[in-house]
This record gives sequence, C-alpha cells and structure tokens, in this order.
Amino acid sequence: MSDALLLAMLVAAIAIGWWLGRRDGGRRKTASRGGESSLPRDYFVGLNHLLNEQPDRAIETFTQALEVNSDTVETHIALGNLYRSRGEADRAVRIHQNLLARPALTAVQSGQVQLELSRDFLNLGLLDRAERLLQGLQKANADDEQKLAGKRLLVDLFQREKEWSQALEVAQPLIRTDADIRRAAAHWQCELAMEYRRDASPSLARKALRQALNIDDRCVRANWILGQIEWDISQYRNAIRCWQRIFEQDASFAPLVLLPLRDAYQLLDDDTGWWQFLEEQLQHNPQTTIVIMAAHALKKRQGTEMACAFVSDQLREQPSLRGVDFLMDLYLEDSDPGERDRLELLKQHTQQLLSVRPRYRCQRCGFDAEQLTWQCPHCHSWGTSKPITGIEGE
Ligand SMILES: [Zn+2]
Repeated sequence: MSDALLLAMLVAAIAIGWWLGRRDGGRRKTASRGGESSLPRDYFVGLNHLLNEQPDRAIETFTQALEVNSDTVETHIALGNLYRSRGEADRAVRIHQNLLARPALTAVQSGQVQLELSRDFLNLGLLDRAERLLQGLQKANADDEQKLAGKRLLVDLFQREKEWSQALEVAQPLIRTDADIRRAAAHWQCELAMEYRRDASPSLARKALRQALNIDDRCVRANWILGQIEWDISQYRNAIRCWQRIFEQDASFAPLVLLPLRDAYQLLDDDTGWWQFLEEQLQHNPQTTIVIMAAHALKKRQGTEMACAFVSDQLREQPSLRGVDFLMDLYLEDSDPGERDRLELLKQHTQQLLSVRPRYRCQRCGFDAEQLTWQCPHCHSWGTSKPITGIEGE
C-alpha cells in the first residue's frame, strides 16, 4: 500500500473515530441539555481538505481540533509513525506531543507515545531530548515490554554518542538473551580498549579486552587489539599468540592477520616457526592468502620453481583469481622476453578483475567494502563484515 493511500485511510479513520466520539458526546449533551446537536466547524474544514486530496492539511485540522478518546489514540500514534517513516519526523513530533499532553491517556498509552516520541527525536538527531524521555520511561509506571523497548532505544542512542560504558550498562540485562547485543557489547569493550590504548593505559585496555572475550568468546577484534598492544611494547611472541587465536575463532580473518604475523616471526628471526604455522594452516584452512604466504616462504627456502609447482597444485584443489594472479608473478620472474609480454598482458586482465572486486562483505546486509569496518556502515551491525573468500575472493 502506498504511503499516500495509507495516510488518507488513517486520516479517514481519525475523522470517523473523532466524529463518533463527537456524536456520542453530542448525544450525551443533547440528553443532558435536551437541546441541539451539531458538528463543529473544524470537522467540515478537515473533511473538505480530505475531499480535496489535501491529507496533510486535513490532518493538521483534525489533530488541532481533536479531543483524544480511546477510539483514536492508536490511529494517531500510527499516523505520527507514518509521518516519521516518510521522513517528516517534525510532524510526527507534533502529533505525538499533542497526544502526550492529553490527560485522558492510560499509563500504557502514555508509555507507547513516549516510545514513539523518542523515536521521532532520535530520527531528528535530538539525542538529549530522546535520552530524557527514555530515562524517564525506565523510572515511570510503564509495562516491562515498553521498558525493554526503551532500553534498546537507549542503547542505540549511547552508541550514536559513542558512550560505550553507558551502552554497556543499559544493555547488561539483554546480553545473555540477545545474540546481536552480545556481539555488539564485546565491540563496545573493544572501543573502550582502543581509547585506553590511545591514552597509553595498556593494562586498562587489556582488562576491557578480557571482558570483551568474556562477553563473546568469538570476538576476533579483541584478540586483534590484544596482539597490537603486545606489539606496541615489542612483545612479539605474545602478539603471535594473540593473533593465532583468531584462526581458532574464525579462520576467514586470515587476510587481516597474516602480514603482521609474518612480520612478528621475522622480527624474532623465527623462519621455522613461521613455516610450521603455515603448514598447519594449509592442512585445515588452505585459503588463497595462506597459499600465497606459504609460496613466499617456500620460494625463500627452495626457490621459485618449487613455489610455482606448489601454487599450481593448490589452485587445482581450490581455484582462485588472486592465486592465478600470484602464480603469474612467479612465472614472470623466470620468463624470457617473448613470454614476458604475453604474461604481462594476462596479468593486466587479472589485475583489472581484482581491482573491481570488493574485499569485505557484511554477512547481515551484503554491504561490500574495500576496507574492514567493525560496524557495518549500512546496517550498523557489529562484527558482521568479513573478508570475502572463494574463487573471486581471498
Ligand atoms: Zn551490514
């Protein structure tokens, strides 16, 4: 159903509800006064706007003239929500505020209107006003479901303000039961850890990261930052231990960790350790990034020809564009001038294909990106973006 049709229907619903309310009131008045009954002028003005296909002006008239009764509250709330969904949150605010000012609202209705008004404020970026309303709702006589919905909005608000500690505090009762909140909460601890790391407080950062892993033991980012903190103080062996845990958590993050891991082994002058690690990974997780790293290590130990044979074998098992591109690099090293031209032409094609492939994709909404972001810029989920693997990926 189109917005315009829905809007017209809501206006009509309000008009009917409002008219019925007036009629009953009129009857009562007629009975008590034993005299005249008439519809006020506003009703006809509103109806006139409606008939002239001016639903916006009609609703303005009806809402201004309306005496809220139990028949029209729900419709008014829905109308405000519709305005918000149409991008007219300021109108939604007027309607919801108008409702909230009515003393006839029950506690449940009042809670519902406060929630919607908070959503309007959040939509308009008026975070202070939304926060005041939502904090009030937590203390008010609202039902449990409304308080829970209010908590979720508060969590959303504190995330926007980057108030991670407050988000964690409000979300605490939801962490156990809600997987999305749990994953997000671990990332809020990581955000705090990043702040501590910037302030040169590594012990506080480590504490926050341990809490992140307590909340969600699959939080790759916590081990990633723990490794970085060890790297900061030149504890390369510890950094390796932290980063290697990521392969147990989610091996698809190999492209993120492999280069710094290699550098740490190099700084420790531990080629054997690096090779053993790669061999182990090739058995369990032979993805292209690992094959390329292993080929580099093999070339250093046994020469280009062995590396070429190794990559060819791996590509037969698991084809990948990036692998083919790398194999051409190896061939180019030992090629004669005639071959070189042909290989370089082919390489241009693979490079072109690779340059238009995104490297990361959100598992929740499918948003593609060149850089890894821990919070998806499109659907705002935490920890759902991952390196793309497979034939055209890593
Ligand atoms: Zn997403």
